[in-house]
Amino acid sequence: MLFYADLHIHSKYSRATSKDSTLEQHAIWAQKKGLSVISTGDFTHPDWFNEIKEKLIEDGNGAFRLKPEIEKTILKNNRPVRFILSVEISTIYKKGDKTRKVHHIVFVPDIKSATKLRKKLGHIGNINSDGRPIIGLDSRNLLEITLESNENSFIIPAHIWTPWFSVLGSKSGFNSIEECYEDLSDYIFAVETGLSSDPEMNWRVSKLDRYRLVSNSDAHSPSKLAREATVFDATPDYYGILNSLKKGNGYIGTVEFFPEEGKYHEDGHRKCNICLTPEETRKLEGICPVCGKPLTIGVLNRVCELADRNINNKFKPHTAGKVYSLIPLAEILSEIMQVGVTTKTVTNEYERLINKFGSEFSILREIPIEYITKDFPLLGEGISRLRAGAVVKHSGFDGEYGIIKLFRQNELIKKKK
Ligand SMILES: [Zn+2]
Ligand SMILES: [Zn+2]
Repeated sequence: MLFYADLHIHSKYSRATSKDSTLEQHAIWAQKKGLSVISTGDFTHPDWFNEIKEKLIEDGNGAFRLKPEIEKTILKNNRPVRFILSVEISTIYKKGDKTRKVHHIVFVPDIKSATKLRKKLGHIGNINSDGRPIIGLDSRNLLEITLESNENSFIIPAHIWTPWFSVLGSKSGFNSIEECYEDLSDYIFAVETGLSSDPEMNWRVSKLDRYRLVSNSDAHSPSKLAREATVFDATPDYYGILNSLKKGNGYIGTVEFFPEEGKYHEDGHRKCNICLTPEETRKLEGICPVCGKPLTIGVLNRVCELADRNINNKFKPHTAGKVYSLIPLAEILSEIMQVGVTTKTVTNEYERLINKFGSEFSILREIPIEYITKDFPLLGEGISRLRAGAVVKHSGFDGEYGIIKLFRQNELIKKKK
């Protein structure tokens, strides 16, 4: 079965998340988006873990579903949403002469293993306050504890290029996966590209050839689910996903943000309104021409640093999957209707389209353009451009999201008339 999965999600118990980030809302939004499998996130948090145990039931093969009495109030079609147990953990520790901060997504196949892992981590650090706990533990040892919880537990290093919190990050990461996980590195078989990088960028780094690339939303509110996702053709459950990522059969590819839209794509200073390419940064020796302080180095620059294939590289490693680029439907509507993305106008139109066409992924990727055009001509034109990759890009930098547009401003004014 072909399906979309979003394996990195946060609950309302993680810092800076929405109060609406509940299991029910996640299931509702997973359906709207067209996701079949989502992660619970945050299972180390005691209150969230209790909710998981109260509201979910095992559905076989390491997957969970909402209890039937809850599910029937939510489910709009006959495609159930399945959950798998996961948590993002931030390890902070000294190694060599540097402080390392690395985020990991930890997966376990059952409640028993989750309980075991929670107990162990609870002895090492505080898992009670933040849904994404920060633990003073070497990444290698976190992997060891994970593997001890169950032979089928695994770790995917999270958003591997973000400067401050990732395994390859320029500020507090390493130059390779092996330096981070040492003798246990062979147990890592997939890495998360993150919102600021796409597979093509990763394919320039031969050290990453052996890893399957996954993309997830890292959502802090339910409507952000499926910003990015991973596509499988397997059984929609824990082992279907695990085997696809490990062995490749069943791994289809990823649905991606345009990397330019990510908050740390290029280099720069937000306060100084300076955004630079890696080449420009090199010429300035990494110093901001406005304030004279070191620039925040983005993901593209860091990829260039570790890359051993050049920027026009067309090489695809044997682990490569298909890549589908997208813009969230609400953002497309906001552009076309020329109102804010959170306005009632956009929300109402979004809901109408989902009710009519089934899910966001079907609209963005599957429904024949002529059907969409018949319903909403400008949207049909926009989505046909999106599917062809004909978009206008302005890169994100230093924590500022980039902007991706489908139309030029004068085009929309003309078309409206
Ligand atoms: Zn993270
Ligand atoms: Zn500056």
